[in-house]
Amino acid sequence: MSWLALEAVGLAIDGKRLLDSISLEVEQGCLLGLIGPNGAGKSSLLKALAHLLPYSGAIRLDGQDLKTLDPRQRALRLAYLGQGDESGWPLRLGDYVALGRLPHRTFWGLPSQADRQAVAQAMADMALTGLASRRVDSLSGGERARARLARALAVGSPLLLADEPVAALDPFHQLNVMQMLGAQCRQGRSVLVVLHDLTLASRFCDRVLLLDQGRVVEYGSPRQVLTPKNLQQVYKVQAMLGEHQQQPFVLPWACRPEGDGA
Ligand code: ADP
Ligand code: MG
Repeated sequence: MSWLALEAVGLAIDGKRLLDSISLEVEQGCLLGLIGPNGAGKSSLLKALAHLLPYSGAIRLDGQDLKTLDPRQRALRLAYLGQGDESGWPLRLGDYVALGRLPHRTFWGLPSQADRQAVAQAMADMALTGLASRRVDSLSGGERARARLARALAVGSPLLLADEPVAALDPFHQLNVMQMLGAQCRQGRSVLVVLHDLTLASRFCDRVLLLDQGRVVEYGSPRQVLTPKNLQQVYKVQAMLGEHQQQPFVLPWACRPEGDGA
């Protein structure tokens, strides 16, 4: 039995089908890249997993149906980082990241040593330690994106769902985040990460799930999924695929010519 299993997960809003019978098995310790064009259903899939949208079918984590868990049990098992930026709050960065520890607290509980350690580690992982006393609403867009990821990391949950966490980051921090997510997975966590950068997906992800129109087009290793045919048919681009230092890269190069049904 796989660690995370989706069984015929479907999602419809106002009669519009956002996800169509998604079935998927994910091993523990897997860095899974969720890719697909705008509107493919990537965010909807993460929201279903995070229980933010009602879905049909079943999602099991370590054998347990997520629908049977109460919100706190769910919050301890999976951390969700949404695509929107809701972090412009007048809070100290350290206090903002510490919000990720709320599921661990008792009602009146003060932060434990483990809470403080998790917050400090998450800030260090996101290269934010020097900014701990700055207000979140004074940070740059990229710093805020790292703060949001630090808050999700601080949860310490076995499953992390991250929707386009590197979209606002410079190349150094994009690479840093992907390396850090890989390191988290080697420690046994599993990460589902939505990416538009196909080179990051092909270099760092163990598995890639290509979605289009709410359906799975292909699920497998980056080399299996990121093929010229899939890029042409699903993304409607021609791309250069190559290798550098024995690692794959994908460089979208041109829009597929109109009328080219390849
Ligand atoms: P993406 O792959 O870009 O993350 P989404 O999962 O956000 O795509 O959206 C998938 C499709 O569902 C899109 O066509 C989007 O417009 C539509 N959609 C998303 N949320 C809603 C909603 N609350 N009501 C109606 N349609 C929605
Ligand atoms: Mg999205």
